[in-house]
Amino acid sequence: RAKSDGRKTHHVYEMEMKYEHVENFIHELELSNALERGELSLVYQPIYNYQFKRIIGSEALLRWNRCGTGFIPPVDFIPIAEETGLIIPIGYWVIREVCKFWKQFESSFSEPFKLSVNISRVQLNEPGFVDSILRILDSEGVSPRVFELEITESTVIHNLMAVQQTLRSLRAAGFTIALDDFGTGYSSLNMLTSLPLDKLKIDKSFIRDLNEPLITSILMMANALKLEVIVEGVEEEAQFRMLAGLNCWGLQGYYISMPLGHEQIAATLGRDD
Ligand code: C2E
Ligand code: MG
Ligand code: MG
Ligand code: MG
Repeated sequence: RAKSDGRKTHHVYEMEMKYEHVENFIHELELSNALERGELSLVYQPIYNYQFKRIIGSEALLRWNRCGTGFIPPVDFIPIAEETGLIIPIGYWVIREVCKFWKQFESSFSEPFKLSVNISRVQLNEPGFVDSILRILDSEGVSPRVFELEITESTVIHNLMAVQQTLRSLRAAGFTIALDDFGTGYSSLNMLTSLPLDKLKIDKSFIRDLNEPLITSILMMANALKLEVIVEGVEEEAQFRMLAGLNCWGLQGYYISMPLGHEQIAATLGRDD
């Protein structure tokens, strides 16, 4: 923020920071009740596969319809949920909801359809996470094969060994693992080769300027590492056309579809186009 407006005085920054603190504190208090108040919901963003010419997955994205103020974007409340540990119960709620969603539409999904769920660093590092998530799936009667778990580079950076072990267990149980927002963090080739991953999701910042040589290079690298690639942030037809000529597993973005509610997504399933 400081960079974007050089005219602001130090005093103004201080006031803004204090205000942000108060705002965060209020969010924190309200977020702790959001689950029981039924203020959280999920939307699902379709992922398109060019070879199958259909939707081959959807990513579950959290929405908080905060009482009185309307929707708060995930960037504004996920960090608070992480700091306070609320992401743990919220994260299990998400898993359970996605299970229910799967059960509801099971007959409309066909292989290799997956539902993607974002897993925070805090969740992954929680002792017993693997057992807990498996217990939920078991009680809901859903196979781990339905799920693609998305983790980000920042999850891995501090405790590679522990994360490696957790991911191995999850993968052995049947989950697919994707590295989200690839290219925005600190992944090294070493990290990529030592993690048990199935997919890379190239961050939307790479597609924005249609940098074909760069995307082609990432695809070649992913291919060498036997990783499938999903490109995020496909917003325009030109981007879609360029990517259609390349060998990537999935395309995701507003051009394919906005994130959709339950009823809307049901209408897109099984549709070929
Ligand atoms: P993400 O996992 O990288 O999710 C993709 C984000 O890009 C979503 O933002 C989606 O709405 C947005 N997006 C999709 N297509 C386009 C496009 O064409 N252009 C642009 N500019 N954006 C696009 P959203 O829903 O605001 O979520 C933001 C982040 O919040 C997610 O990034 C994820 O890191 C986190 N998040 C969302 N739901 C959950 C959750 O259930 N658990 C956890 N731990 N994190 C979540
Ligand atoms: Mg994601
Ligand atoms: Mg992403
Ligand atoms: Mg993200």
